[in-house]
Amino acid sequence: MDADRPAPVLTRRQALAASASVTAGLVIAACGGSDEGDPVAAPDATVEPTPACGEHTAEQTEGPFFTPDSPERTDLAEAGMRGVPLVLTGRVLATDCRPIRGALLDFWQADGFGAYDNRGYRLRGHQFTDGDGNYRLTTIVPGLYPGRTRHIHVKAQRRGGTVLTTQLYFPGEPANGSDGIFDPALLIAALERDGEVRGRFDFVL
Ligand code: FE
Repeated sequence: MDADRPAPVLTRRQALAASASVTAGLVIAACGGSDEGDPVAAPDATVEPTPACGEHTAEQTEGPFFTPDSPERTDLAEAGMRGVPLVLTGRVLATDCRPIRGALLDFWQADGFGAYDNRGYRLRGHQFTDGDGNYRLTTIVPGLYPGRTRHIHVKAQRRGGTVLTTQLYFPGEPANGSDGIFDPALLIAALERDGEVRGRFDFVL
């Protein structure tokens, strides 16, 4: 598959169905970092797919590690950074399923060892959707840190709109079941291929 070509538009349900068998092969712990716990290679059989549109994406707590004024960039991975490459794509949609152009997405996450950069902007960046509401984030799979399952933080906002703060999750994570903040509606449709995780998530504002 051409990594630079926009993925075909799948509903989240379709994407989950398509990836259900290969999700079992997701080997996030292969980064070789000091990640705690080995994610089992098992899909979440109980996942309730997020509707493609119609309902607003669920809000979640910001957490303690947000830093404002992140740089505008779509690629958060840096040379020498330890971790499994992750390419996350999707769209920002309105509840009527129309794409939202120029929507802001501001991502922040832990590194492969579960640490946030709270002094600078490592693994932090914002971007804007294109004319079809598409976004594309290149990064690494975040590591685990105590008390939480694996996640990526994000703020999403249409121009002039209110800010949606939420978190995205990974399927097959053992800690999904014990993390009190985890919401299955915020699972990325993810699959691993050639040592890289490809994920898809559509936001509805
Ligand atoms: Fe966090």
